Amino acid sequence: MRDATRVLKAGLPAPSPGGPFLPGPTFAGAFHAAGDPADSPFTYGRFHNPTWSLFEAALEELECGPALVFASGMAAATAVFATVLKRGDVLALPSDSYYTCRLVAQNSFAEQGIEIRMAPTPGNGQLATLAGAKLLWIESPSNPGVEVCDIRVLVEAAHAEGALVAVDNTTATALSQQPLALGADLSVASDTKALTGHSDLILGHVAARDPALLEQIRTWRTRFGAVAGPMEVWLAHRSLGTLEMRLERQSANAIAVARLLAQHPAVQAVRYPGLTGDPGHAIARRQMARFGSVLNFTLGSKAAAERFFAATALVYEATSFGGLHTTAERRARWGGDPVPEGYVRMSVGCEAIEDLLEDLAAGLDAAGPG
Ligand SMILES: *Cc1c(COP(=O)(O)O)cnc(C)c1O
Repeated sequence: MRDATRVLKAGLPAPSPGGPFLPGPTFAGAFHAAGDPADSPFTYGRFHNPTWSLFEAALEELECGPALVFASGMAAATAVFATVLKRGDVLALPSDSYYTCRLVAQNSFAEQGIEIRMAPTPGNGQLATLAGAKLLWIESPSNPGVEVCDIRVLVEAAHAEGALVAVDNTTATALSQQPLALGADLSVASDTKALTGHSDLILGHVAARDPALLEQIRTWRTRFGAVAGPMEVWLAHRSLGTLEMRLERQSANAIAVARLLAQHPAVQAVRYPGLTGDPGHAIARRQMARFGSVLNFTLGSKAAAERFFAATALVYEATSFGGLHTTAERRARWGGDPVPEGYVRMSVGCEAIEDLLEDLAAGLDAAGPG
């Protein structure tokens, strides 16, 4: 089946007379479960929930491996770190990965005796950090730099060292890039972003090649309680049906926006893996089905970026990405990523491209060169 059809049907139960296409959320702390707990398919809401089961079945179809839903992307990432890494192990992490992943690794996990080795995503820089590693963590395209690495090449080198490989696949989603098919052991994502795409929930998931490893991660989820609410999971599943349409529109819009940015005098630099001249383009073309919504560009100064935001009507100034609406932010306002003051991360939405280009051109004209 093609992507558009797969996402429409993913995880939906077989038709039953009078039943809805997607059953509504099951709100339950406790379930009826008399006698031997093994006789009840559901017992307690921290262990399992039928709404999770349907969404996890959908994720399994997209990832081509069994999956678990988590309360957030960070809960999913932490579940992998905590399950795989023991005292004395080495974690190879991209130095340009999502800021909070670095923060958690460098603080909580380093404190527990885990060695963190960092190297940049571009140029497959992480190849230099694999000797004796237990887990290689990859993020491609990275957030916010949209740097790309060759997942197959890194997986092969990591496996030769006996390391497991996890890919933070948040920016691409499993529809545009399949880490497990590229050889990775684990695919992790924040479903807060493009997968659900409506900026209305926080969610994450982990998919694994080895069901036994996923069972260990499930045990961690159950015991530490990093579980998602059924309402969020149901909303996520409802949003999945439009994933292919959203990604197609966002990717087509993003390439048009990237081209506008590339030729505008107010813009000092633009990065989008879909641009043929981008350093990540050749690899991204091989391992991604489409290039997604996220790009970044650099304006002359903080003031220029602020003039840009003030002069656009369609761009929501907001953090996060992958949603229906075009959003952008001056990344330096957070600290944490070493980027210039005029550096803007943008997530291109599903607006009519003519409206978007007009609006952005007005913003860039107002920003000016300095
Ligand atoms: C947002 C994000 C996360 C964290 O996800 P939350 O859902 O906010 O917890 C992890 N990795 C990447 C690449 C992200 O963009």
